[in-house]
Amino acid sequence: MCGIVGYIGKRNIFEVLISGLKRLEYRGYDSAGIAILSDDVFILKRAGKVSKLENELQNFAPIVNSTSFSLSVGIAHTRWATHGEPSDINAHPLTDCTGKFAVVHNGIIENYQILKKKLESLGHIFKSQTDTEVISHLIEEFYKNTKDFITSVQLALNHIEGTYGLGIVCAHEPEKIIVARKGSPIIIGLGDGEYIAASDPSAIVALTRNVIYLEHGEIGIISPDGVEVRKIHSDEKLDLDSRIHELALSLDEIEKGGFPHFMLKEIFEQPESLLNSMRGRINEKGEVKLGGIADFMDKILNSRRFIITACGTSWHAGLVGKYMLEQYAEIPVDVEYASEFRYRNPVIFPDDVVWLISQSGETADTLAALRLAKAKGATVLGIVNVVGSTIARESHAGVYIHAGPEIGVASTKAFTSQLVVLSLITLLLGREKGKISPELASEIARELISIPEKVKKILELNDHIKALAEKYKDHHNFLYLGRGFNYPVALEGALKLKEISYIHAEGYPAAEMKHGPIALIDENMPVVFIAVKDGVYEKVLSNMEEVKARKGKIISIVTELDDKVAKLSDHTIQIPQTFDMLMPILSVIPLQLLAYHIAVMRGCDVDQPRNLAKSVTVE
Ligand code: GLU
Repeated sequence: MCGIVGYIGKRNIFEVLISGLKRLEYRGYDSAGIAILSDDVFILKRAGKVSKLENELQNFAPIVNSTSFSLSVGIAHTRWATHGEPSDINAHPLTDCTGKFAVVHNGIIENYQILKKKLESLGHIFKSQTDTEVISHLIEEFYKNTKDFITSVQLALNHIEGTYGLGIVCAHEPEKIIVARKGSPIIIGLGDGEYIAASDPSAIVALTRNVIYLEHGEIGIISPDGVEVRKIHSDEKLDLDSRIHELALSLDEIEKGGFPHFMLKEIFEQPESLLNSMRGRINEKGEVKLGGIADFMDKILNSRRFIITACGTSWHAGLVGKYMLEQYAEIPVDVEYASEFRYRNPVIFPDDVVWLISQSGETADTLAALRLAKAKGATVLGIVNVVGSTIARESHAGVYIHAGPEIGVASTKAFTSQLVVLSLITLLLGREKGKISPELASEIARELISIPEKVKKILELNDHIKALAEKYKDHHNFLYLGRGFNYPVALEGALKLKEISYIHAEGYPAAEMKHGPIALIDENMPVVFIAVKDGVYEKVLSNMEEVKARKGKIISIVTELDDKVAKLSDHTIQIPQTFDMLMPILSVIPLQLLAYHIAVMRGCDVDQPRNLAKSVTVE
């Protein structure tokens, strides 16, 4: 999680660091801080949002600008606390006893307690409760003998266990920033006589498009003379010529474009993002081309089974994927939470295909699941949004979802694009295996191609959904029920409400309700049913009767012109009909809007919900 920025060049250091942090704030936002090299290391850090830090910085600009040091060098951080509460003291950068070394860190130092004890016995005094602070003291300790910044950092990293993306500066060698990576991403932007490092390309793109992705286990040394990359424990400079990539990201894509929140912008972008996910990959005959996995088709078609592993919303997409693949391609699929999968000893066969779904491509647990499956000899394939991300690079192959940058912490357009990609995979494999006839393939394809237009129609219901939000915003509990393809949608609808409005919500398979949750139902319990016309429609109607009989308030997502459901419901939201396995792409959209409006009406910070961060790069 967390955002890191580091800059060396001639620009106004405050502006570069603060605008970088603002672009990264979605990654973590409980505190923020900067370290700037002047005659010494100037540090300002505060609990709270970047804007608070920015306001206070105005008072310090004259002091920093008045020094003789002409180069702009600094690092900055926006935190998502793992160790130690969000406070001024625990905010990054963290310094050593002398205040000469400043460190910003993304990740977790697992052996920090042992190291801290050792350092304390050597006389070091710790100020914060963070795991990160051991890094600055360790560097200080090694510097006493080596008198060399780079060597001291390398020696310190030798002793550290855990994950990190790091930015480090030092007053003894003020024209340098050292970055390092083990797990958490670090990208170095190469400008014209200036360099910017960050944990995410969105903080870089305003300055330059040419970047180097630091690899796992590498250290980067940035100075006015250029960038040098080495393996963490080696002195050999690596060749960088073939490693310079051009970012495809545009500034427009990472700005709000007139919407009050990124989340709403991203919900409304879905007709376009869905189109981008299928562009050039499917035709009306149902022929699918997925270049990213073409070389692995033999392995995929001959696999014993699929395992889909993911976290959060991506896990919900994976569950829809299971239903699709089992029903239409007849491939057995297990869906696993990456965090569980990686810590048991899962049985993985060399002829298994393991699919990793992650919007950011950096999700720590999913990445660990990838490495585990790869080590056990399985074929690992990514379904990822962020191009060039770690999961994309470490997978044998994969399919990008091409949803465009998703900044809102609550995932919306990435989910629907993941569903598009999973349906393309199902169609491709179903046909290859002879399980989907050419007629059926063409029916599914035509439906898929018309999905973006249908999404547009659903978005026109925004005012109706807003009015429903007004009615229900003060409730403390919600139940979301669905069956078949729409059971994962019930889970996703409940998750959206929980994460941004802080209302307790449960998603359940509708028929399971009577095995427990039905006890919760009374006249104060809103129950959101996904009751669209599909193979389990009649069954869902019976579940609705059960809720109605207990006076629950029913809000239903229904297919157009459905009277039966309307009679049982207090409110309906009508969506267009489509092929059953594609329905989740449509049925989730009203639930995204409902959660959004309820959260806004309750005064919640929709884009930066409490305790959450966008890409979960810690376990
Ligand atoms: N573990 C560090 C802390 O709690 C870094 C957290 C982050 O990645 O923001 O301060």
